[in-house]
Amino acid sequence: MARIGLVAHDDKKDELVAWCARHKAFLSQHELYGTGTSGGRVVDGTGLEVTLLKSGPLGGDAQLGAMIAEERLDALVFFQDPLTAMPHDVDIKSLTRLATLYDILFAPNRRTADAILASI
Ligand code: PGA
Repeated sequence: MARIGLVAHDDKKDELVAWCARHKAFLSQHELYGTGTSGGRVVDGTGLEVTLLKSGPLGGDAQLGAMIAEERLDALVFFQDPLTAMPHDVDIKSLTRLATLYDILFAPNRRTADAILASI
């Protein structure tokens, strides 16, 4: 069973919910963790079981980063909005840096996320 983090910036949350709905049968066999708003949207939109962390800007990204550093996360699906400046840019950078450093599966967009699921 893989431990998968789910995050999406506001403009990408619908895309994350749709992606989770499309892969619901697969994702339901794994352990899911989401930042507060993204995870809540996935729960409401798909019925999947997701452990909810704090909202990203309030520490949820940092919580996922800590899970990666403690080797408690195998994959990160983080649908990012490259067209909008984020007040918590420093947390986003830290999270993506740790995903790179610890060499976990990391998808910043839908097609990469599809490829990751195929590899799990
Ligand atoms: P959220 O956080 O799911 O609580 O909106 C996402 C983010 O880090 O931007």
